Amino acid sequence: MKGTVVTAMGRFYTVEKDGTQMNCGLRGRIRKDPALRRYSEPVAVGDLVDFSINDDGETGTIEEILDRTNVFTRKDRGRRREDLIAANLDQIVIIQSFSTPKLNLRFVDRLIVRGMKEGIPAIVCVNKADLAGRKDIEQVRSYYSGTDQPLFFTSAKTGRSLKDFSREVRGRLSILTGSSGVGKSTILNALFPGLNLRTSEVSASTGKGRHTTTNVSMVNVGDGTRLIDTPGLREFGLMDIEPEQLGSYFFEFPEYAHNCAFSPCTHDHEPDCEVKRQVEKGTIHEERYISYLNILYSLKEYYGNRYK
Ligand code: GDP
Ligand code: ZN
Repeated sequence: MKGTVVTAMGRFYTVEKDGTQMNCGLRGRIRKDPALRRYSEPVAVGDLVDFSINDDGETGTIEEILDRTNVFTRKDRGRRREDLIAANLDQIVIIQSFSTPKLNLRFVDRLIVRGMKEGIPAIVCVNKADLAGRKDIEQVRSYYSGTDQPLFFTSAKTGRSLKDFSREVRGRLSILTGSSGVGKSTILNALFPGLNLRTSEVSASTGKGRHTTTNVSMVNVGDGTRLIDTPGLREFGLMDIEPEQLGSYFFEFPEYAHNCAFSPCTHDHEPDCEVKRQVEKGTIHEERYISYLNILYSLKEYYGNRYK
């Protein structure tokens, strides 16, 4: 039988089929699959699986993981394996807010890069627009000017843009990220009355060598709208991206990069760099460029140390 993994609690999974859920374990050979050994646990929420019912008639066994369209993973520095957080996502929904907690566009950029690398588009929702001036909103828009980044400026308080935002979420499987206090619960309760978003927790890294349990669950709010909440997701690696490739994950850079004198160009120290010229001209927002450099330096440091 085919079903969808809706919760992952360490080594235990819940698989849903036609609205019914079943606790499932994993057939041993899946753990031995060489293609899955890079992950701390081989199955993720969002996975489509083939499963069978055990002799007790109540629990099941996952026999096979069907091909994935994408995966969302987290890898901490110093840890050997990646945590699989979710699979087969339609989009990453990044919720931020004006006022408090403060906007963190560098974090947003890192997530967008993470998504692009996996082929998962991201949408950005900046909530508490009622507390923002026109200038604050313009600033975010200009930060992403020259990109096709979908941006929503919502207010759960006044209802502003909630309809537009909900249209993007409807009928899709989304992973939600947002630090505590941005208004995520208020937005979701407004969009989906009666929703009781179970707190699912992506536990923080406990450091080298120790086993970390990743608890993630999906909520189905009907009409194919499915949400995976990740309240604890603050850190995730981009270490699988080579420094020279990073520019291709900043939407507005590639169209200029072919006019850089060097190829590949990291748009940093190289002379005659078109991206830097566009930053000077103001076509690319300076802060966005600094955000790029920020990631670039962390990648260079990582790769530099790795090859020493
Ligand atoms: P969560 O931790 O992201 O789920 O945040 P909550 O939904 O619990 O909201 C945190 C606080 O922000 C609460 O006091 C909400 O009333 C407030 N809040 C949420 N959305 C808005 C908004 O659009 N505007 C304003 N002014 N406050 C909001
Ligand atoms: Zn360049």
